[in-house]
Amino acid sequence: MALIVQKYGGTSMGSIERIEKVAERVIRTVKAGNDVVVTVSAMSGETNRLIALANDITNKPSPRELDVIMATGEQVSTALLAIALEKRGQAAVSYAGWQIAIHTDNVHTKARIKSIDDQKIFTQLKRGKVVIVAGFQGVTDHGNITTLGRGGSDTTAVALAAALKAEECQIYTDVDGVYTTDPRIEPKARKLERITFEEMLEMASLGSKVLQIRSVEFAGKYKVPLRVLSSFEEEGQETAGTLISLEEENQVESAIITGIAFSRDEAQINVLDVPDEPGVAYKILGPVGDANINVDMIVQNISVKDKKTDLTFTVPRGDCEQAVEIVQGKLQEIGGGASVSGSPIAKVSLVGVGMRSHSAVASKMFKTLADEGINIRIITTSEIKISVGIDEKYLELAVRSLHDAFELDKPAKVF
Ligand code: ASP
Ligand code: MG
Repeated sequence: MALIVQKYGGTSMGSIERIEKVAERVIRTVKAGNDVVVTVSAMSGETNRLIALANDITNKPSPRELDVIMATGEQVSTALLAIALEKRGQAAVSYAGWQIAIHTDNVHTKARIKSIDDQKIFTQLKRGKVVIVAGFQGVTDHGNITTLGRGGSDTTAVALAAALKAEECQIYTDVDGVYTTDPRIEPKARKLERITFEEMLEMASLGSKVLQIRSVEFAGKYKVPLRVLSSFEEEGQETAGTLISLEEENQVESAIITGIAFSRDEAQINVLDVPDEPGVAYKILGPVGDANINVDMIVQNISVKDKKTDLTFTVPRGDCEQAVEIVQGKLQEIGGGASVSGSPIAKVSLVGVGMRSHSAVASKMFKTLADEGINIRIITTSEIKISVGIDEKYLELAVRSLHDAFELDKPAKVF
């Protein structure tokens, strides 16, 4: 008998009809001989609706009260699912986060889970019940309700699975797994059977928005096998989704490149003619970081003449203007006749743990882009990732030609 944690997202819980389907799936999992703990999101659109209600009163509602409002969405879902299970003769019980309790810090609207009491859950499982826990919420030491940031039910599910030492954490969603890249851009994208936590983090943070990033970090840290599955597949037609796990358990596919992630929402900021001396990068990037702007790719040239150099970095496009303003404000301090400008850029990244032991990935990538006449504006690399910044208009072409060149449409092979 295994203990399984299942999470059903907003679209899976989107209507009474969908919730009845979820109930049937949960019962199938119980009938297969498992103890089942379920965590659910609010019905799709509900969290936005609740936030809008608060915003109708003021555009600065207090985060504490916003959490009280937002947490109701998940609470409704838990009880509806319990009722649907009971109607089918399956004993079930629903709990809000504070009832379990899921203890968090007190950072309202983006709280972090500190610990989970498992007693109630195990007691109810022993009684033969399915335990349904509201996702996305917890409680502070002072008894205030908190939420975990948008998409936070994924993190609730993983935290529950870690605390209960579940065999697997299954995330049911509206896609049937993690793909080599976005199938809307490359129809030949292939569903991956497996991917490592590390790779998934790169894929998720680079724009493959299947899971909340924090949940993947959490799963990696506590070694919780995480499976992404579709809740829209009918009984008998269900596929195994994608398993996200540790590298050592992940040797089935020996791919060098696992997938291609991309993001359109980047901006490149060029700071030209800065003095090539200690402290300059700090003077420029320090204040940008202090403004909570995420700096991603950073490139600095060697100075060729006049002991001057250029610094280029990327930020989320929405933060570009602010970042330019911040650096502009520092130009005098930076000295050397420095100037600053920002422009949109797209980022394409090859991701794969297999890169560690294989060279030639970078040159193959650059040749592929060159053959298509795509100019690379920035390059950065890490152990398991190579990213390039390119003109946005070439993004789709770049993704498709790289997908072809690395034969990602075919099950892994060593090239
Ligand atoms: N309902 C919350 C949201 O919409 C949490 C979640 O769905 O995971 O962000
Ligand atoms: Mg979600």
